[in-house]
Amino acid sequence: MIDRKEILDWLREEDEKRLEELWQWADTVRRENVGDEVHLRGLIEISNHCLRECGYCGLRFGNKELERYRMSEEEIMACAGEAERYGYGTVVLQSGEDYGIETKWFAKLIRRIKRETQLAVTLSLGERPDRDLETWRKAGADRYLLRFETSDDDLYHLIHPSLPGRKSDRLGILKTLKKLGYEIGSGIMIGIPGQTYVSLARDIVLFQRLDLDMIGVGPYIPHPQTPLGQGKWKRMISKDEQVPNTEQMTYKVVALTRMVCPEANIPSTTALATINREQGRELGLMRGANVVMPNLTPLKYRVKYEIYPSKACINEIPSDCHSCLHHRIQSLGRRVGIGRGDRIHRVRSKSPLEGMDLNLFDFIGKNKNVKLRGSKIFR
Ligand code: SAM
Ligand code: SF4
Repeated sequence: MIDRKEILDWLREEDEKRLEELWQWADTVRRENVGDEVHLRGLIEISNHCLRECGYCGLRFGNKELERYRMSEEEIMACAGEAERYGYGTVVLQSGEDYGIETKWFAKLIRRIKRETQLAVTLSLGERPDRDLETWRKAGADRYLLRFETSDDDLYHLIHPSLPGRKSDRLGILKTLKKLGYEIGSGIMIGIPGQTYVSLARDIVLFQRLDLDMIGVGPYIPHPQTPLGQGKWKRMISKDEQVPNTEQMTYKVVALTRMVCPEANIPSTTALATINREQGRELGLMRGANVVMPNLTPLKYRVKYEIYPSKACINEIPSDCHSCLHHRIQSLGRRVGIGRGDRIHRVRSKSPLEGMDLNLFDFIGKNKNVKLRGSKIFR
């Protein structure tokens, strides 16, 4: 049993012995709920065009240094074929928010993948209109990933500007996706400048409230061609309130996420592998995670999908990636999952957080209590 106050205490815990207890606890909960299988999802970064201006991401429209690409149908199909040959149950089609990816063209592509392979299809294309999401669901898409990034409303809107006339509402879109029958995934970045411990604890509680099927959490990594990376967009909070974007903080969040969402699919992310190349993936898997996303994007494009610098596995060809990951998973005494790796739904005892008398999507509104006295925003 774990509540919000305890989550906060764990986030501030520095004692190695106590943290060892947290890692063990999360690992046990992971084993009991999702078993020893590690599911592999083949990631295909289909376009780096983006019309958004997120303050943290290298794909933002304003980054004129970046050479843009969009993969063709045949290129994407070739990657999907590769995923199937390697025995991955799922492909994740990810991109910037790129309206050059036309609704009908993309629906046709989804239908083709579903027809020619056994793969589950996960989409991660940003905040597309409801009618696109519906069309793609009807075409056979199974899952959708959309991180809410932070539950701190002020910070979110500072770092993630809305498009003209359309306020960004990722929680609202997650609700729509769920209604449409997608498995839904979300997540956050850890250590965003201006992110407080209190809001991070609330993010973790929100994972449980949203009943997410997949939860991706990774460290915020500064990109020099972004306003956040250049320190231009600032939210002033005290040093003591600021969450660090460290490896250890990421493990804490992975472990606590497993505690509150025992059945969710939780990846050991590339961002984690980027800040610890030797062991980041393994330690994530040992502290609550059960999914890895090997990159299938052709190398010539992969280097251009630079959301942050020095991304892990940027030069590995898929066959090397494949054998490296198999080896790493086996060295942990775990096994590679077979099949699509859908979320397992179990009948379980009431979670400690379920007793709270809060409506799911009112949750954020009722919990704006983290407005810090004297906090200021600069853009
Ligand atoms: N455009 C889609 C979207 O925003 O949902 C999908 C692609 S976007 C690159 C995927 C995720 O990358 C974002 O949700 C964000 O959490 C993460 N990301 C972007 N910039 C990052 C950075 N500088 N450090 C760590 N993660 C970052
Ligand atoms: Fe575009 Fe997604 Fe990057 Fe934002 S996070 S700039 S929407 S690719």
